[in-house]
Order: sequence, then C-alpha cells, then structure tokens
Amino acid sequence: MNLEKIMSDLEKKNPGEVEYLQAVREVHESIQDVYTENPQFESANIIERIIEPDRVLMCKVSWVDDSGKVQVNRGYRIQFNNAIGPYKGGLRFHPSVNLSILKFLGFEQIFKNSLTTLPMGGAKGGSDFDPKGKSNAEIMRFCQAFMLELWKLIGPETDIPAGDIGVGGREIGFLYGMYKKLARENTGVLTGKGLNWGGSLIRPEATGFGAVYFAKEMLATKGETFKGKTVCISGFGNVAWGAAIKATELGAKVVTISGPDGYIYDPDGISGEKIDYLLELRASNQDIVKPYSYEFPGAQFHQGKRPWEVKCDIALPCATQNELGKEDARTLVANGVQCVAEGANMPSTPEAIEIFLENKILFAPGKAVNAGGVATSGLEMSQNAMKLSWPLKEVDERLHHIMCSIHEQCVRHGKGKDGYVNYVKGANVAGFLKVANAMLDQGVI
Ligand code: NDP
Repeated sequence: MNLEKIMSDLEKKNPGEVEYLQAVREVHESIQDVYTENPQFESANIIERIIEPDRVLMCKVSWVDDSGKVQVNRGYRIQFNNAIGPYKGGLRFHPSVNLSILKFLGFEQIFKNSLTTLPMGGAKGGSDFDPKGKSNAEIMRFCQAFMLELWKLIGPETDIPAGDIGVGGREIGFLYGMYKKLARENTGVLTGKGLNWGGSLIRPEATGFGAVYFAKEMLATKGETFKGKTVCISGFGNVAWGAAIKATELGAKVVTISGPDGYIYDPDGISGEKIDYLLELRASNQDIVKPYSYEFPGAQFHQGKRPWEVKCDIALPCATQNELGKEDARTLVANGVQCVAEGANMPSTPEAIEIFLENKILFAPGKAVNAGGVATSGLEMSQNAMKLSWPLKEVDERLHHIMCSIHEQCVRHGKGKDGYVNYVKGANVAGFLKVANAMLDQGVI
C-alpha cells in the first residue's frame, strides 16, 4: 500500500476536507502491517473501496421560523459502508456541520461499529441547522422538513440514524413522528427513542458509561482504578454527563466541565445535585457553564480556556473534534496524567496523540472508547426487533461486556513487544479486519 499516493489522490478528489483526510490517514497508518501481511486485501482493492462512501445525500431543508420567515439549511446523510450490517450512525445538528466533518464521522463509524461485535455498518448525517436558541416548534418544523428528504433513504433494515451533537431525545422524537407518518410503519428506524415508544434503558447515558467502563479496563492493565483519582472532562452534553456520573460512582472526583466559551473548575467535585442542576439547565436549552459558577461559589469559570490545564489523573475529552492540541497534551503529560480516553470523536489532534504515545500514556481513541453509545443503539434495535424491552440491569451488563470485549480486541491488536498498548493501532486493526474480510466474502458490489 502506498499511503502517500492514496492520500494525495484522496486530497485531489476531496480538496479542503481536512477532518476527513485526517481520519483516513490515521486509520491507514495503523493498518499498513496487516494490509501487507494479507495480499488478498490489495488484490481486491479494499483500501480504495473502504475510503469512498457508498452514497451521499445532500439536500435543501426549507422550514418556517416562528416569525413566519422561510429559513434554508443543508441536510446530509452519508452511507459509508454496509459490509457487516445496515448503515448506522448519528445525526449532528450544528452550524459547523459540512461534508468533511460528516465524512470523517461516517468513516470512523465503520470501524467503531465493527468493534462493538454487533452487525452494523457505518454512516453519519446531520445539518448545519443550529438548535440553540430555537423554540420547540421551530425544532419540530426543521426535523419534519429534514425527514421529508431523509425517509426515502433510511429504514429499520437499511439505515438507522441516531443522535449526536445537537440531536437528543427531543429531536429523535420529532424525526421519528414524521418518518412514521410518511413510511406508514412503526418500526425501530431511529435509535435514542423515548422509553415509552421503543427506546432502551441506559441509552441516554450509554456513551458516557461505556467510556468510563473502557477507561476502567485501561487503568486495570496498570493495576489502577478510578478510586481517588481526579478527572477532567470537557463538554457537558450527552457523553459528558454520563461519564461524570459513572466516574463519580467508581470513586473518582470530576473537577471540570466545559463549553465553547470556557471551562468550569470545581475543586469540590461535580456530582450529585450539581449534575442534576446542569441537566435541568441543559433540558431548558440554556447556557450551562457560566451559570454553574454563580450557583456554586467554590467553582471558577475560566473564560476562553480549555480544561486540560488543570492537574488530573484521568482526562476524558467529551466535547468535539480537535479540542485537545499539542500544547494541551504537553501540559497534561507534565501534570502527570495517567489515562486519556476519548469520549468525543477525534478530540485529540494527531500531534497531541503523538505526544501521548511517545510518553507511553494510556491513550485510547474515540472509536473504541465511545462505542458504547452505538452498541446500546444496537441493543435498542434488537429489543425493537423482538418487540420487548430489557431491564436496566440487563442492558448495563451487556454494555459493560461489550466495552470489555472492545478493550480486549484493542489489546490483542495493539500490544507492542515492550508491553505498551497502542490503542489507536489496536482499534483500527481490529475494526478494519472484520469489515475488510466481510467485503472479501461478499465480492465486488
Ligand atoms: P452534545 O451536543 O450533547 O454535547 C457537546 C458538548 O460539548 C456541549 O456541552 C457543548 O457545549 C460542548 N462543546 C461544543 N463545542 C465545544 C468546544 N469547541 N469546546 C468545548 N465544549 C464544546 O453532544 P454529544 O455529547 O452527543 O457528543 C459529544 C461528542 O461525542 C461528539 O464528538 C460526538 O460525535 C461524540 N459521540 C456522541 C455519542 C452520543 O451517544 N451522543 C456517541 C459517540 C460519540 P454547548 O452545548 O454550550 O455548545
């Protein structure tokens, strides 16, 4: 495999798609050895086939705001690869959404879904629509308008979207209602549904819980646990709040959360009623980071800064891509961080990852650490297909088991001669092998 040639061809075809090119390069660097060891991959041109999405939907979404003005947004669905199961991946609503970001997320999703041990292919979608500051009625109208395009492409056996940044239970509800009406069926076409209409217990907190289960396994390789550790978390969304609850439950102290405008440092720990308070603010669509520092006077708000300057044992970046750079990584290492587990997708830049690996820090990428979200979505699909609902304990045990299995796969494929586990390599190789072999089995299609 000639990596530089593949990358330069890809760059020519996808100019300026920085995030997508970054994600492809990372996977390719990791799989070079297995690719060479298995010449059948090269003969079937697996690389060129896996980096090209099966199809891309890009559509106009027109909707009417509360003042009667017509608004226009852009909607997307990238169906990347369905070698091991129907397309599966979240929808993101955020003004920064573009083709590059969704292609990077869809590409990553192929390998993440493969790691979960469940039969799910990779996809992603979303819109540059910003739900912030919109009324419920506006969000509903937007979701309904988007579904008018999306429904032709998705289905419980073909493509099953879910939530991501800006898409939680409320948005999934509006999307589902419109799909049901258009398709004249009541099936598990979306995951992250409400508990009363086909959702799974634990799904809202699954990504954060799963991230902490994964980090627990990483720490165990060094005979360590969460107990007594200081944890820095970024963001305070779907992923971050679950992670904060589970880390606290395991005996750690979470001291930071963040938003795009800065971070909160609370030396007394962010847990219990403080998390309930944050969740209430979040549910009512309000800013959460600044108000926290007024409500809990021991806490400090650091405007325009990132939480990585705070001394901690464990760092869980749970906000967004490329939110932890080279200097942040240097600071974390200098402050004695032991474990960095990515709750978000690609939050660390390649330079930051290099620093963690050079310093032999326990570092694991989002596609392994945050796979508990899509895994529990897979469990939601199973429950929908069986038309039953598993109790909380059963879902949690299955999630825990899946996270341990992902960890085991990463160690199997990522452990070097010196005993250091390169989780980036381990996750990429394990995820790739399953998909590549399925593609070989199914011929050129
Ligand atoms: P949410 O929108 O629920 O939360 C994102 C959080 O990050 C919000 O608190 C947001 O603050 C904050 N944030 C956004 N941009 C920045 C920034 N530049 N700096 C600091 N904080 C920021 O999203 P999710 O929790 O769902 O997703 C977070 C990450 O996890 C994404 O990378 C997503 O792809 C990934 N992921 C999510 C899964 C899920 O199940 N939800 C599953 C697997 C991965 P504010 O609200 O103020 O903008």
